[in-house]
Amino acid sequence: MDLEFIDTRSLSTIQDSISEITDLSFSTYDSSGALLTAPKKEDRLLAQIKSYASGREEYERFIRDGIEKAVLRKETSVIKGIANQHQFFIPIDVNGFKLILVSSPFYFIRTEFEDFLIKKGEYFGFLLSHLESWLETINFKDYPSVQKISVHVKSLFETFLQGSYEKNLNRRRYQMAKTMIDLTFNIQLPVPVKDFYTSVLDAILFLFNADTVSVMVKEKNFFKTAIASGRLQDDVRTLRMEENNPRIIHSIEGFIPEFTNDVVEISKLGFPEGITSLHIFPLLCRNNTYGVVVIYNSILSREESYSILEFCKLSSLILKNLFLQNARENCIDKITALNTATTKLTPKLYNLDILYETIVDTATELLGSEKGSLMAPEDGSLLIKAVKGINKWLIQDIKIKIGEGIAGKVFEDGEPLLVKDIAKAGLPSVKLRSHYKTGSFVSVPLKFASETIGVLSISDKTTGEEFTEQDLDVLNYFSSHASIALKTSSYYNLAEKMKELSITDPLTGVFNKRYLQERFEEEIHRSERYDLVFSVAIFDIDYFKIFNDTEGHLAGDNVLKELARITNGCLRANDIIARFGGEEFAVLMPQTDNDKKEAFVVAERIRENIKASLTRKWEKFPYPSITVSIGVASFPDDGRSIDELIESADRALYKAKAMGRDRTVIFKKENYM
Ligand code: GH3
Ligand code: MG
Ligand code: MG
Repeated sequence: MDLEFIDTRSLSTIQDSISEITDLSFSTYDSSGALLTAPKKEDRLLAQIKSYASGREEYERFIRDGIEKAVLRKETSVIKGIANQHQFFIPIDVNGFKLILVSSPFYFIRTEFEDFLIKKGEYFGFLLSHLESWLETINFKDYPSVQKISVHVKSLFETFLQGSYEKNLNRRRYQMAKTMIDLTFNIQLPVPVKDFYTSVLDAILFLFNADTVSVMVKEKNFFKTAIASGRLQDDVRTLRMEENNPRIIHSIEGFIPEFTNDVVEISKLGFPEGITSLHIFPLLCRNNTYGVVVIYNSILSREESYSILEFCKLSSLILKNLFLQNARENCIDKITALNTATTKLTPKLYNLDILYETIVDTATELLGSEKGSLMAPEDGSLLIKAVKGINKWLIQDIKIKIGEGIAGKVFEDGEPLLVKDIAKAGLPSVKLRSHYKTGSFVSVPLKFASETIGVLSISDKTTGEEFTEQDLDVLNYFSSHASIALKTSSYYNLAEKMKELSITDPLTGVFNKRYLQERFEEEIHRSERYDLVFSVAIFDIDYFKIFNDTEGHLAGDNVLKELARITNGCLRANDIIARFGGEEFAVLMPQTDNDKKEAFVVAERIRENIKASLTRKWEKFPYPSITVSIGVASFPDDGRSIDELIESADRALYKAKAMGRDRTVIFKKENYM
């Protein structure tokens, strides 16, 4: 701000009043000697002198010297000029803005003027004969009134200018506050941060008449121009300052404006020649430093600097809000991504290896990274179960001792680890790090209840950036889902194994096919060894499809259960019954006689019992009772292997069906040849 704050209309009113009272008029100059306001009417004496070139030159020199003296001494002086006239030089200081008031000329005594007239009068065109008429227009003052005038005029002007300055300042403050409020209210959040910076810079340019302004933001070890505005905007767009620049540190740590116009200092920064001064203001809110505002080549009063500081404070508050808003948006995106990621795991539950791969792939993708690995404990060490972005063959046999290396440590402690830069982390040096592009990674334990079941590690962000606390949160959240999926998967596999190990059919409670197979094999060995005969009967329910269709599947299930129970009651001590297929059963009868009579008897007993017991309790099934068809085959005559024997029994069963169902057919080779 220069002297534009002076309200020139009021100033000239004051000047007029003062000249009425004191009979002196005043001109105002700035401290460099430039005329700001001229007196209302020119003094006749001075006009006469200035009408000569030499007179004008001499008078101007007189004014210049007088102003210089007044500025230096900071006190009012009365100086004698070329016509022996006296003039006041009154220095006025309003908040650092300096003005000099110069009065019109006056004399103390008449001889001062006469002396001039006699010595130099002729040279400037004064005629001695006009002495009397000149004496009438000339201004005479006595010492006491001169002293009083100087004091009062100085204080009058100072009071007026101070008021004018403050009025102006208040107007500016109001304007600034209004701009700030407008800025705040008109921002449609979320707005790109750059757009907000532009508004801040434009406001500073406009409110403080700044020459050039920029926002510098931290990038690695520098504060770099992010956005610039004003006259030199193209020149400052590429500028940067080291993060440990003392001015920046001072400004940020002390939360104060910093200023320099030291040519050497500025050129050391590598700034172009056109830049002659810098004002630096911090943009920070609590512990978050967003950057600095730099104002180039602009003169700012202390007041203005502190106003800009306030402006920066408010801007930082908005910035904080903006960043929070952006973070929130980001968070919503992440949560959506997380949800998508976790749902990817569910369909993979049935295959542990695929689940491991899916966990690593999904986590790597979730964090926008290139590399990932999952390790799980096996026999006291950690083994790699799945990797992404790392050559599988390189590391597949690697075993890590629990407690050793990064994964080993994370596993042992059960605590997640975020390393921004491994070189600074003070971790034990880790082999294989040369495979990684960046020194930043995250590693989290996979935990289920209090048990740690693995370690998930992600490294090398695609962007080359460091991992953040937010990444760690995301990975932690994902890993808890992954852990549940892994545990569920292992339970599922366990259940499958258990099923495999079981020997009974869950619906009917009789032996299952797998068990039958084992016993069958044993029976073949035993019978071969001891030269024994044994038989197998396979039976199938008649028209069971119709039963299901008419009475329902649930009723069908009950029939199967009943049928198994009834059959069990018809068996000899060593016979075993197994559910062979959907509605087919097999009965293994060790040690039957040669001509299969015994086997036939047992089969018929089963068939008749079923027919007698499972009589009509139903409404729609058209037959009065459930019946079965049975085929019987014997070792070794009808087959020497399980497959052969079953095929023979099946053929006999088929024949029973073909013959009208509800009967037992004994396999006879000759019937099928
Ligand atoms: P057929 O006299 O020729 O044997 O006639 P079917 O209707 O019994 O014909 P088939 O043996 O082809 O049909 C078997 C039916 O048994 C088909 C299926 O609905 C039923 N079934 C198989 N397993 C189960 C089961 O566990 N529960 C129930 N309720 N029905 C079953
Ligand atoms: Mg069948
Ligand atoms: Mg059937």
